Amino acid sequence: MAGKLIDGTAIAAGVRQEVAGGVAAMAARNRRVRLAALLVGGTPAGGLYAQRQAQACGDVGIEYQLVQLSGQTTQRQAIDAIDRLNGDAQVTGIMLHLPLPAQLNAIELQYRIDPLKDAEGVNPANIGHVVYGKTLIAPCTALAVLELIRSTGVSLIGAEATVVGASEIAGKPISLLLAEQMATVTLCHLATRDLRMHSARADVLVVAVGKPGLIGRDDVREGAVVIDVGINRVKQADGSRKTVGDVDFDAVREKAGFITPVPGGVGPMTVAMLLKNTLRSASLLQSIR
Ligand code: NAP
Repeated sequence: MAGKLIDGTAIAAGVRQEVAGGVAAMAARNRRVRLAALLVGGTPAGGLYAQRQAQACGDVGIEYQLVQLSGQTTQRQAIDAIDRLNGDAQVTGIMLHLPLPAQLNAIELQYRIDPLKDAEGVNPANIGHVVYGKTLIAPCTALAVLELIRSTGVSLIGAEATVVGASEIAGKPISLLLAEQMATVTLCHLATRDLRMHSARADVLVVAVGKPGLIGRDDVREGAVVIDVGINRVKQADGSRKTVGDVDFDAVREKAGFITPVPGGVGPMTVAMLLKNTLRSASLLQSIR
């Protein structure tokens, strides 16, 4: 029997509704929720993404402020822009669009964002809170993965969880959140000797690598929860392009208990979690002001 589809789009719609309610409650107390997004350089993809983000914020009542800087911006100028947003009482959340032009150091800029306004949960102070089990604002993709697993009703307590991919943005924070939920976590990366040994014994398998077809039917345990974070554009036989994840969806669905599609799984949930984090930032700021 085919595994149940985890419908990220539908679950994200629920989260958006919840956020809209929270934003309305803040507004009723004369508190605004405003996300400032820093976009450096002018690629069409970046512009389109910002436009979609503005729409997503608008739909839940979050004000969206796009701060556009030229592609020649220096590190000092980018730091100054972040400092201005940190000090602006009207701005309750800040995010940095990636990728940045080569002359800029993304990590240094993420360090600079006020941890309470860190809507993407990328400041090391926020990652540190996750390590101590006192999560304030966690990285959006990691939160998205956790919510999608929760939606299945499968308990993480004592579960074998394997995370494939160990990046700062995805795999590592996902592992931390799963460990916080008392799963037994194995984190795999490029140097992992026998990936299948780890993936095939997992009750919960999260794949965040960026390699289409990395995980096939034999790499998955019968009945497992499979969360595919990967986003890859692949060329099809007729020359057209299609978006796929890292998991061979059709083959793995036959064996998995639950599985996320790509697109329509982790992607829409990550956007919803950015909105939720933005509301959280505004609430945290309100509680200390
Ligand atoms: P990344 O920074 O390139 O990291 C990839 C990770 O995969 C690295 O830790 C790497 O190991 C590991 N890896 C590479 N080949 C491997 C292999 N054969 N076996 C096991 N591990 C392997 O990528 P990322 O930013 O985390 O993104 C990963 C994928 O998720 C991409 O497709 C990206 O587009 C997608 N993504 C989606 C969302 C979403 O919202 N849906 C959000 C973020 C990312 P090393 O550390 O040893 O190099």
